[in-house]
Amino acid sequence: MELPYDQAKLAALVRDVPDFPSPGVVFKDVAPLLADPQAFSTVIDVLVMAVGRGTVDRVIGIEARGFILAAPVADRLGAGFVPARKAGKLPGRTSSVSYELEYGLETLEVQSDAIARDDRVVIIDDVLATGGTAAAAIELVTGLGGRVTGLGFLLELGFLGGAARLTGHDHLSLLSY
Ligand code: AMP
Repeated sequence: MELPYDQAKLAALVRDVPDFPSPGVVFKDVAPLLADPQAFSTVIDVLVMAVGRGTVDRVIGIEARGFILAAPVADRLGAGFVPARKAGKLPGRTSSVSYELEYGLETLEVQSDAIARDDRVVIIDDVLATGGTAAAAIELVTGLGGRVTGLGFLLELGFLGGAARLTGHDHLSLLSY
């Protein structure tokens, strides 16, 4: 599918912040892009086009910047929005998956009744880095009996190989580094 958008224009609105949040990490700050009405709107348009084929029941946004993108995508697709959050933030019965980061463990949770068996689910986040977070989100959805029909990211750090963690699933990243 042809996705009409100006990559260079979007890329110019992503700011590299060296050594944040820790030494050696180049943080991709998407705040300038989100603050640009036209660029933000383009990103939502492209994500909707890319992940919105067929019926989508739920769009999962991953805490925290994933929420910003997933909510308007869900609205535009006529789907429900589901937050995937860090451990201990969601009330009631939750499903959780722990995964390894470079240092230590991270846990991602969704409310167990947020996804029903056979729901068609799209997962959205701002950055695909090592893929651990997205893989955990896939595990959460499939563990509840849902079907992941696509994943969408604003940008992908290709050199970290995250796409290999998503095998068997379609994903789109608007920008690749
Ligand atoms: P990963 O699990 O390694 O794919 O990391 C993905 C999560 O960490 C996403 O939710 C991103 O928001 C965040 N993240 C990882 N690396 C970066 C980076 N270089 N710049 C901005 N966010 C990042």
